[in-house]
Amino acid sequence: MEKIIIVCSRPTPNGPLHLGHLSGPYLRADILKRALIQQGHSVCLVTGVDAFETYIQGTCEEKGIPCKDLVNENSKKILSDLLSAKISIDGFYDVSNNLDLFSDICSDFFGQIRGVEEKDISILRERDSKRLVVGYWLEGLCPSCDSNMGSFYCESCGSLILPDKVKEPSSKLGRSLEHFDTKWLFCAPENDNLTLVLNKIKKKYPGILSSINDDFLDHTSSDFLLGYPQDWGVSIDSKHSCFSAASILPYSNYFATMAGYQDSFNKDADTKTIAFFGKDAVTQYVYGCELLSHMSKDYKGFDYCYMNDFLLLEGNKFSTSRNHAVWISESLQGNEFQGDGIRWFLSQFEMEKHGNNFIFEDYKKFEDKTLSSVLSVLENFECLKRCSDLKPEIRQHIKCFFQSLMIERNTYLSLDNFQVHNAVKVLENSVEFLNTLEVNARKEWCWWFSELSEPFIPSIAQYISSNLKREVVSV
Ligand SMILES: [Zn+2]
Repeated sequence: MEKIIIVCSRPTPNGPLHLGHLSGPYLRADILKRALIQQGHSVCLVTGVDAFETYIQGTCEEKGIPCKDLVNENSKKILSDLLSAKISIDGFYDVSNNLDLFSDICSDFFGQIRGVEEKDISILRERDSKRLVVGYWLEGLCPSCDSNMGSFYCESCGSLILPDKVKEPSSKLGRSLEHFDTKWLFCAPENDNLTLVLNKIKKKYPGILSSINDDFLDHTSSDFLLGYPQDWGVSIDSKHSCFSAASILPYSNYFATMAGYQDSFNKDADTKTIAFFGKDAVTQYVYGCELLSHMSKDYKGFDYCYMNDFLLLEGNKFSTSRNHAVWISESLQGNEFQGDGIRWFLSQFEMEKHGNNFIFEDYKKFEDKTLSSVLSVLENFECLKRCSDLKPEIRQHIKCFFQSLMIERNTYLSLDNFQVHNAVKVLENSVEFLNTLEVNARKEWCWWFSELSEPFIPSIAQYISSNLKREVVSV
């Protein structure tokens, strides 16, 4: 039995979650967690919100509301969305609720990193207010892929871009700007260390590197921003507050500590650490965490990282601001198994790849054909319970069929070969198998289906197992 902590990337507390969010880190992490628990491991799944993103500071300033109010209100919505989608989350935290602990973790973390240097940087600031035009307040083009970008990240290629590298920079608020020379804090590895880190990344994340630009590492600046002067956030020293993207490991350690998994990120810990994140965070997780853990005395990074690309909705990006989204709260209205239908459908996308598209008509077809065959079995549950006994050879036939599906499923829900879209195919196979069985054999089918399907469609699985009363048989 292994002890495992899964940390999902922090959702931005700017509104409720939509199916695009769900399809990425949260659903996949939940499926992995449930499968690992069935295999006998002890698994904890955590995430939380980051009140120190410039996005939150900027939005609150524009709306004229305190950050705490925005974060609290949206945290409640996000948590409720995750729970209603049956994401089996063990902890959802806001660092500002225990700032003393988070500050301690940050000062310990940043205090042990080698190669920290102050470097000159020339950035833009607002001529009148003198506010630095970074993060939320900055817009322009990505120097790596020329896409429109805001903030510090390019959503298209996953690059983490310093404000002085953004092409055609402008103020999001349309303010008049001037140049300003300042000093920011970086982790600047010498060549030896840089080579070690890059080689480790190439060896550890071939899948991730192949699904983003081949030259991703060439575009990644070797100096990694740790902090800059700002009047919010957690301080690294008297002049710099820590930069959100540099604090993935302290945040994760904070979430783990709050959930009772303290010391999980120690180099000698026997707990496995796993991260789930979207493509726009790839530099922070893959380069940032590997570099900073390498340059730290006690911290290990993530043992496993799983990245997802973004889901499209009818061919276009999901967008909270344009309301081009299917919200979790609205998609789960309907019968009690609606959420399972959505989970099953979303699991079929190969989210590591680009261009997955949610189309309503496809979902409708899936509901009418695949999901309804399972639901129709459940509708006749009372009859099922009264099924007469099966012949032993039919029972054996069903058992063998499901055992082989279980083995197939588990090869794809393992840490070294994690492919949800391939694992979920066993559900459709078992539905096809159902159609070959006589009505009398459906109870036996249900027993096995319940265990096989639990990671993907937990409500249906639990409904079956609680109604048919059978101890779980592990394969
Ligand atoms: Zn880009």
